[in-house]
Amino acid sequence: MAELLKDTLETISGYKNMNPHYEELLDILEESLILREQYRRKVKNDIFNVNESLIEKKLAGGFPIVDFPGGTFGLEGPREYFAALLEIANKRALEETSEIVEKMEKGELDYTKMVRDSFTFQQDEDEQDDDLSGIFDLLGFLIEESLRPSLEFLSEKYKDTIFKARWSEGYCPICGREPKISELREEGGKRFLFCGQCGFEWQFRRVKCPFCGNEDQQTLAYFTIEDEEKYRVDVCNVCNKYIKTVDFRKTKKKPNLDVEDIATLHLDILADEEGYE
Ligand SMILES: [Zn+2]
Ligand SMILES: [Zn+2]
Repeated sequence: MAELLKDTLETISGYKNMNPHYEELLDILEESLILREQYRRKVKNDIFNVNESLIEKKLAGGFPIVDFPGGTFGLEGPREYFAALLEIANKRALEETSEIVEKMEKGELDYTKMVRDSFTFQQDEDEQDDDLSGIFDLLGFLIEESLRPSLEFLSEKYKDTIFKARWSEGYCPICGREPKISELREEGGKRFLFCGQCGFEWQFRRVKCPFCGNEDQQTLAYFTIEDEEKYRVDVCNVCNKYIKTVDFRKTKKKPNLDVEDIATLHLDILADEEGYE
């Protein structure tokens, strides 16, 4: 097993002990991460048919490399991974999962359509309450994860090109999604945004809202909670959106942002209560 994954799994078990509330989701994530590594190794080519000759132009114009939902994709690999992920979740016999499995069997849910929809529609965030199942969208997570190995393949392949293009947008240069979480790194506290869909990170201005581009210090703020100084929630009072930020500079460890995102769901609940989206 790769060293990095081993560290991550240790972190996960630590979090499970500290906060049993997250145990179920972290169990699912843990197994998914192990499986992801297997599927990642199987990805040998680009299933999104990216036109290499257009990449530089696209990036210069602020367009992500993959054209969701316009392009034609070969989704066999992701579909197979999705089925395996669903099995992992289903073992926990969550009510939500059995409903998904049932609908898949009846043909009421179509994988390709769900993938396209996940890029077309903004997710419905209205039904949130202080229960984790309200704030955490399991089906959305499984769909996103199912594409991750294939998108990580692209992240790896084009990261130098993206770096050279000096991508400075608040959305992912590969898939166009909004960042899931951000990270402060290095001494000066350079800020990186993280795309949960592709596992890609890119540098972004520290005092700027990734969602609306607002750079006015008066309307940008953040809050933290006691005893958790390595986390904060950056908010924008212009567009009313928030992003969680992790700062592991003192611990000298490289955070796994998939794990941190789940381990900080209480911050999503707080942000929601404060009226941020
Ligand atoms: Zn992305
Ligand atoms: Zn904003």
